Amino acid sequence: MGKLVLVPTPIGNLGDITDRAKIALVEAEIVLAEDTRTTGKLLKLLGLEAKLRAYHMHNEHAQADGIVRMIADSSGHVALASDAGTPGISDPGFLLVRACIQAGVVVEALPGPTALIPALVASGFPCDRFVFEGFVPQKKGRQTRIQSWRSEARTIVAYESPHRLRKLLGEVVEWLGPDRGMCVVRELSKLHETYHRGTAAELAAYFAEVEPRGELVVVVEGAKSPAKSDEE
Ligand code: SAM
Repeated sequence: MGKLVLVPTPIGNLGDITDRAKIALVEAEIVLAEDTRTTGKLLKLLGLEAKLRAYHMHNEHAQADGIVRMIADSSGHVALASDAGTPGISDPGFLLVRACIQAGVVVEALPGPTALIPALVASGFPCDRFVFEGFVPQKKGRQTRIQSWRSEARTIVAYESPHRLRKLLGEVVEWLGPDRGMCVVRELSKLHETYHRGTAAELAAYFAEVEPRGELVVVVEGAKSPAKSDEE
């Protein structure tokens, strides 16, 4: 029986690919790619060759069982790569992993690039406990989700598009209060990597002047317990 190998790919800097990721891509019977053009470009830049097959949010439901059977019948491995970062993190992966586990197929996850961890650890907020919210819902459920952070004591990490950052900052000011600490992390591992740290009100004022651009991770300080804020 073969196995499924989850292969993280760079989020902006080619140097972040690991040796193990390269070997897993080259030696795979098939590389399932969220976008075969993107993964094809990456392989070309790395001077590698692999057999690609599309596996994305529009066909993952239909394909998962067939892929599991193919892995079960093989003696090698199938690799899964998304456009950037770790498969399964706000990217396809979970359905296939669950189907493999249910069928008794081994799943191996290689450690590697992802946006949420560097953003969290450099935010300056506690990282001993945190919640990852993925993309904040655009419409339905957005208010409920953000308002649930009011009493969330753990550090909160979320992905947000630059087009909605101003909206999100306004919502945090309104629903969590202007003094809630935040860190907006832009363009991790790229030329214009930037960390904006401050209160929600400060960051809202800053980004009212400066247009948000690039890929973003938003980190929100956890709610202080009443006893703790009294002590401070
Ligand atoms: N699988 C990826 C991971 O492991 O982080 C996430 C994929 S998700 C479709 C893309 C989102 O991740 C972006 O909209 C942004 O919020 C975040 N992201 C990805 N690369 C980033 C980077 N270089 N800097 C900041 N955020 C990034």
